[in-house]
Amino acid sequence: MSHDQQFFIDGAWVAPKSDRTLEVLNPSNEEVVTTIALGDQADTDAAVAAARAAFAGWAATPPAERRALIEKLLKIYQDRAPDMAQAISTEMGAPIDMASAAQVGAGTFHTQNFLKAMDEFEFDRMLGDHAPNDRILMEPIGVVGMITPWNWPMNQVTLKAVAAMAAGCTMVLKPSEIAPLSSIVFTEIVEAAGFPKGVFNMVQGDGAGVGTQLSTHPDVDMISFTGSTRAGIAISKAAADTLKRVHLELGGKGANIIFADADDKAVARGAAHCFNNTGQSCNAPTRMLVERSVYDKAVETAARVANDTAVGPASEKGSHIGPLVSQQQWDKVQDLIQKGIDEGARLVAGGTGRPEHTNRGYFVRPTVFADVNNDMTIAREEIFGPVLSIIPFDTEEEAVEIANDTPYGLTNYVQTEDGARRNRIARQLRSGMVEMNGKSRGAGAPFGGYKQSGNGREGGAYGLAEFMEIKAVSGWSTD
Ligand code: NAD
Repeated sequence: MSHDQQFFIDGAWVAPKSDRTLEVLNPSNEEVVTTIALGDQADTDAAVAAARAAFAGWAATPPAERRALIEKLLKIYQDRAPDMAQAISTEMGAPIDMASAAQVGAGTFHTQNFLKAMDEFEFDRMLGDHAPNDRILMEPIGVVGMITPWNWPMNQVTLKAVAAMAAGCTMVLKPSEIAPLSSIVFTEIVEAAGFPKGVFNMVQGDGAGVGTQLSTHPDVDMISFTGSTRAGIAISKAAADTLKRVHLELGGKGANIIFADADDKAVARGAAHCFNNTGQSCNAPTRMLVERSVYDKAVETAARVANDTAVGPASEKGSHIGPLVSQQQWDKVQDLIQKGIDEGARLVAGGTGRPEHTNRGYFVRPTVFADVNNDMTIAREEIFGPVLSIIPFDTEEEAVEIANDTPYGLTNYVQTEDGARRNRIARQLRSGMVEMNGKSRGAGAPFGGYKQSGNGREGGAYGLAEFMEIKAVSGWSTD
């Protein structure tokens, strides 16, 4: 039976107590795929109560038992990869090949990294040789409310849910109401893995409803949120009265600093990275800063990459990019492209409107602006579409200053063959991550931002610790 109009509470699929519903649209053709139920206070309360009741037992489970269940979850996740890819591709428009490889693969990768982190994690240790009777106990924080967005659905759900399971927390997941289908599949996987009832609960809902109810709930100990800075601020305020921990993974406006001595694929690689997932990634390198001596060539290359980037339906196989997720995002991206033109940036590829061959679906044209200055709206706001802004610079100091002149601080990028310069700049950039010369970060590297890109870290051992309290005990018996 379809679980589209059910929630998963206390180990069972249940009918909603609320009668609110929402149509889920396929962004490639704007057709209704299904209708989901939207929860309300009574549904949220039931899910939180189930998580609360399960907490003491799950928190006391030996890590090895939790690990064994997560390993089982991973096996089932891999078995159900085709269903998961189909769900993600349908709900948020990632082309099916990309959904199978990158979107589903992200969940596999994070789960494997948490398993490894569990093997090495010190849940219980001595403070140090100077204090043999002092013990440090890492304990699960309690009931976690998880609020996730639509752009990398399983990346974000696994970074939260699997880490919380590993830590010994119980949880209520509220996935994005725009992309709820992948979380239904994920919940079926958790159910099949056989976690004790109440450890994992899932309620569909919107931000004003279940999202706010979780944030304000006195029985929720922590909110783990990924999404817009706007919602991050609203959640922080809503959570303040109960002083719960609020972990935020928000937007970005990454700079990609390209020096004249960068490898000859750096510009093309940077542009393609910006357009990947139709620009809907918080860590996208959306501001390309280029040393003036290679600037004209870089503009030409980036424009060519945009013109060569195929756009098409998510159901088609191939390496094209899909539509944006929704009409709302389409309107927002169109407005920002128009603002770029109005504020005097030089449009060198793409522009407003749909690509020529499309007449429905939320498709946009891969767009490149040159001669952008860092005060323009397109250089300051997170566009969340395939729109690249190119800014020239003359000196290393100027490049670092432009890169850091943003309210965000998620991922910055540096391209130069000069190793000393790379390391020097990595230290100066005010961001949670710096990726250099096209090298992606290794397994278990922490993901998260400075400034308005959020707080806390996800992934690997750092992401596991995020869901824990640290208890310091003296007088510990070593007999
Ligand atoms: P959003 O922040 O509104 O939604 C993300 C999640 O938060 C959803 O589950 C939503 O239901 C929930 N939510 C919204 N308002 C809430 C509230 N007041 N209290 C509790 N939960 C709330 O994001 P969106 O509307 O889907 O996208 C808008 C913009 O957010 C995008 O254009 C993009 O700039 C940004 N965004 C960033 C990321 C990221 O990974 N950093 C992801 C998605 C969206």
